[in-house]
Amino acid sequence: MPDWHELAACKLFPELDFIQPGGDGAKPAQRAAAELACRTICAVCPVRLQCAVGALERRERWGIWGGMDYQDRKLVAARFGYEPPGDPPEHGTHSRRVKWGCACVECKAGHALYEALRREKRRAEARARNVWAVPLVLATPLRVGRRLLPAGQLLLPLQVCTF
Ligand code: SF4
Ligand SMILES: [Zn+2]
Repeated sequence: MPDWHELAACKLFPELDFIQPGGDGAKPAQRAAAELACRTICAVCPVRLQCAVGALERRERWGIWGGMDYQDRKLVAARFGYEPPGDPPEHGTHSRRVKWGCACVECKAGHALYEALRREKRRAEARARNVWAVPLVLATPLRVGRRLLPAGQLLLPLQVCTF
């Protein structure tokens, strides 16, 4: 255990849970009050900086460390070049590529697959809603002036004015 742990202000408040403020099943108001109590103690802690840096380096997902919760750590990590808090997703996944910026071959492929499936899903939804105009196709060849349109030629739908 590092020496500075001896000076941790939270050691004087064993009844406060800094990892899960308010405890398991706390209501939002209870949790907010417990978090505020933790942050207040952190604010006067003599080893706050060491605590905060340690939590950033370990990518702590849970709890209040150095007065910061997960969201705070996320912002501070992005600002000061630390890895984001929490465990990164597996390589080869869309979120590892997009949220963690991994440019490895697996992550690029995982991202491409995700995008392809997403686009296919959107197309399927559009087909289900039947938003596409059914194309008109020539059944037999048709001569238009000097041009001969072959059978199978796609035609633009004609707009017929009804008024
Ligand atoms: S900054 Fe907060 S969590 Fe960290 S050692 Fe001090 S009181 Fe404990
Ligand atoms: Zn990767």
